[in-house]
Amino acid sequence: MHEHSRELDAIEDSVLGFARRRTQLDPVPLGAPRTREELYADCGETITEEGIGGVEAMRLFTDVLDPASLSVDYTRYLSFVPAAPTEASVLFDLVVGASSIYGGSWIEGAGAVFAENQALRWVADLAGLPAQAGGVFVPGGTMGNLSAMVAARDSAAKKHSGVPQRWAFVTSAQSHSSVAAMARVMDADVIAVDTDSSFKLTGDAVAEVLQEHGHRVAAVVATSGTTNLGVIDDLVGISAACREHDVWMHVDGAYGGAALASPKTRPLFDGIEHADSFIVDPHKWLFAPFDCCALLYRNPDAARDAHAQHADYLTWLDEWGDWNPSDFAVHLTRRARGLPFWFSLAVHGTKAYADAIDVTMDLSRYAARQIEAADHLELLVDPVLSIVVFARKGWNDEQYRTWSECVMREGSAFVVPSRHLGEACYRFCFVNPRTTEQDIDAIIERMMSET
Ligand SMILES: *Cc1c(COP(=O)(O)O)cnc(C)c1O
Repeated sequence: MHEHSRELDAIEDSVLGFARRRTQLDPVPLGAPRTREELYADCGETITEEGIGGVEAMRLFTDVLDPASLSVDYTRYLSFVPAAPTEASVLFDLVVGASSIYGGSWIEGAGAVFAENQALRWVADLAGLPAQAGGVFVPGGTMGNLSAMVAARDSAAKKHSGVPQRWAFVTSAQSHSSVAAMARVMDADVIAVDTDSSFKLTGDAVAEVLQEHGHRVAAVVATSGTTNLGVIDDLVGISAACREHDVWMHVDGAYGGAALASPKTRPLFDGIEHADSFIVDPHKWLFAPFDCCALLYRNPDAARDAHAQHADYLTWLDEWGDWNPSDFAVHLTRRARGLPFWFSLAVHGTKAYADAIDVTMDLSRYAARQIEAADHLELLVDPVLSIVVFARKGWNDEQYRTWSECVMREGSAFVVPSRHLGEACYRFCFVNPRTTEQDIDAIIERMMSET
């Protein structure tokens, strides 16, 4: 199977043909989940001693498996945080796979790491981080948050004379589930601070907590674009409180940090330039394929101290240590997963990114206006970024669920319920510039009827 063959020629044609057709597909269908039993009935056992062959394996993927997986770039996929990778980024993902590059060390992946670092530098400049800032692309926001939290704890442990019995992370009640989950992984506590009336974590609230618990706080985790509401915490106030108490400030911009890229939305992030660490997921609102989170540190040396692995079989890498991406997160082997993002940025230029962000921001404002004008809907929070949260008046939890399943099954929208202040709600998250005002009108109209 490592020798090239006629059959592999055919497989190559069918794989590359699929990729070409899929990246050009417009419109992209949603797809629909099926049960394990249904899939088994259509696929049977695919892993056999002799192999089923490339034609059959590709047929199963094209006809059965792919349609049973949702397309996150479907234009009416507005739940969770969707994705809208550019054609250039997706095509380049094939190149990354084909290149067999080890992205963990400079000596092995210098060219790839150089390019990834230029893309990281663009993000660092948008955030206003200093020249020495740097980091690495990790799989997602969860891993980015964990890696930053570990670096913060390591740095706090070195500053303090005595290590506290339990470390704590200060964050808001609206921060992403991964913050609490990763604190559990670290056997640390979360101090969840109440937000103000616009659902922001404020500097005053953080200052109060640091006054009381400062000695055991490893970091404050602020959010620049909460996942449920798209709210940006008071980064100016929080950074002041962190500096006063000499506490690490991490900014989780996994979703919202993308809006740094547009001059129109950049001012919303003032204060982020003080962050000790920062993440943004290009696989969310920066048009890269899964999986890709940009993790940046103000002082990469502190992160290296916390993360670098040491062993006899690795010392050779250290001697070439221009920039070993493995040293900056919870990982060793890594795919050069920042390259598809780098390629698309290089191809299209940064202005195209600003424009695409503006288009999705306009969609969220349009949606908010249409929701306000619709008798059957109620806007719950004025959108700050591209998330719009609203209620379907008169519906109970069951009706919310029924409608969502109905439209998913008919392939006309993917909009699932969330909750706000304990009540069921719907939530649109716009990251796809190909979504249109007509898409929004159609979904709003479809919400007149439950089934
Ligand atoms: C999505 C999200 C995460 C988690 O990112 P993954 O890439 O899914 O691991 C973390 N924080 C925020 C604010 C997010 O929106």
